[in-house]
Amino acid sequence: MTDRYDAIVVGSGPNGLTAAATLSVHGKRVMVIEAHDEIGGAIRSSDLGEPGWMHDTGATIHALAAISPAYRTLDLAGAGVEFINPEILLSHVLDHGGASLYRNLDATAEGLGRDAKQYRRLIAHSASHFEDLADDVLGPILHMPSHPVTLARFALVALLPMTVVGRMFRTEEARALLAGSAAHSFTPLHHPLTSSFAVMLHAAGHSAGWPFAAGGSSRIADALATIVVSHGGEIVTGTTVESRSDLPDHAALLLDTGPAAAAKILGDELPKRRARRFRRFRHGPGAFKVDFNLSGPIPWRYEPATRSGTVHVIGGYRELIAAERATSRGEMPDAPFVLVCQASPSDPSRAPEGHQTCWSYAHVPAGFDGDAQPKIVAQIERFAPGFSDVVLSSTATGPHALEAGNANLVGGDVGGGSYSGMQILRRPTLSSRPYRTGAPGTYICSASTPPGAGAHGMSGHLAALDALGRELR
Ligand SMILES: Cc1cc2nc3c(=O)[nH]c(=O)nc-3n(C[C@H](O)[C@H](O)[C@H](O)COP(=O)(O)OP(=O)(O)OC[C@H]3O[C@@H](n4cnc5c(N)ncnc54)[C@H](O)[C@@H]3O)c2cc1C
Repeated sequence: MTDRYDAIVVGSGPNGLTAAATLSVHGKRVMVIEAHDEIGGAIRSSDLGEPGWMHDTGATIHALAAISPAYRTLDLAGAGVEFINPEILLSHVLDHGGASLYRNLDATAEGLGRDAKQYRRLIAHSASHFEDLADDVLGPILHMPSHPVTLARFALVALLPMTVVGRMFRTEEARALLAGSAAHSFTPLHHPLTSSFAVMLHAAGHSAGWPFAAGGSSRIADALATIVVSHGGEIVTGTTVESRSDLPDHAALLLDTGPAAAAKILGDELPKRRARRFRRFRHGPGAFKVDFNLSGPIPWRYEPATRSGTVHVIGGYRELIAAERATSRGEMPDAPFVLVCQASPSDPSRAPEGHQTCWSYAHVPAGFDGDAQPKIVAQIERFAPGFSDVVLSSTATGPHALEAGNANLVGGDVGGGSYSGMQILRRPTLSSRPYRTGAPGTYICSASTPPGAGAHGMSGHLAALDALGRELR
């Protein structure tokens, strides 16, 4: 056998591994090179030094992975990946009460009282045609739509800022529930297209739920790696790629890295204008993550939150808008937006019997170097008095530590780059082939490319298919 590879993939996040798996099942000889000692990027899982516990150190909620066309093609279910839904997908807790997203659209709408009809009007079509919508939305923005009517109906709302969609609703519950989901964009909610995150995530929820991966998110990475290796591929860990010239001979190079890192690896091979664009690619606000081991359930005042996989913790709609605006301006709010996930009731393998895990992160300014844990605890305590009494231990991972463990998480940005302004369209270029870097035979396939953040592997899959139609034909 020669030392020439059909393809080298740099980075083993879900996109890098999906690219490698897609190429492998097409009979290509692939090598994956990963900087960290473990594969998986932002879908790793760990006991964080306490045997008997299991935490997802990055992504935990798999609303998009569960419906990923790439994972369906690669048959991840056949490779042992199981998604488990919580009883209630999401609750948004308020000082008095709250609101919940159920798998069932009618149950969700009815819970929103006077806004039931408006919720159905906003979400029902996208939810009932979700597979068609996913075909058109989980890829480059510039493309010939496969389902133009469904896409057009989605776009009518999706193009609007969340603050405009918020005005279509009369209750605090409906506004807060939708705006909390829109805030997964890490973008101030008066920006165009922010409502697209709410509509997509809610429609996905009514379609396949917001599940956890049984046994931890790393099971997704393990399944993809097994596909690569069983087809003769190789995976090398603990090796940071600095330059293309350091790599073995290859026909195609796929970079599961941020655009600036891609520019560095490709050096002078990258056309100058493209190199400038890649270096100027903007990153978004950061995340400050805290994983808790708990002696029992979180004592939420809003009872449905106890049965929810995800809980949005911020308070009302106005508080959320203000907090998101502050973090994007580089200011740390006193009361940040906190996402809490409770995986162990659905997946008891993650905690010793009778105990629970709690995954949380707060939205913080890019590169924030303070300690956000006291603010996270205070936010949870506000809606779950007595939370601190059930905490046995905790592990905090701020923006710098996130980046130190994974170079793609620049300044703690977990979304692969800011979604504000034109960059929601230019990731990193506005093109029907956004994966091509402009340097011959090279592709960028991380979450900085369409369809963006999430553990769905679609960027890797689409970049691999592009390479299979060109150098690897
Ligand atoms: C804390 C956190 C929570 C999240 N929560 C969710 C969630 O609940 N649901 C969801 O869908 N998504 C979530 N996400 C986002 C999701 O995990 C990412 O969008 C997804 O992992 C991106 O995949 P990727 O393959 O593009 O990059 P990554 O997963 O970031 O992987 C990139 C890999 O490339 C490696 N690498 C980078 N540069 C080099 C180099 N030069 N040489 C070698 N290797 C290199 C890195 O070490 C890393 O392993 C979360 C992310 C984080 C960090």
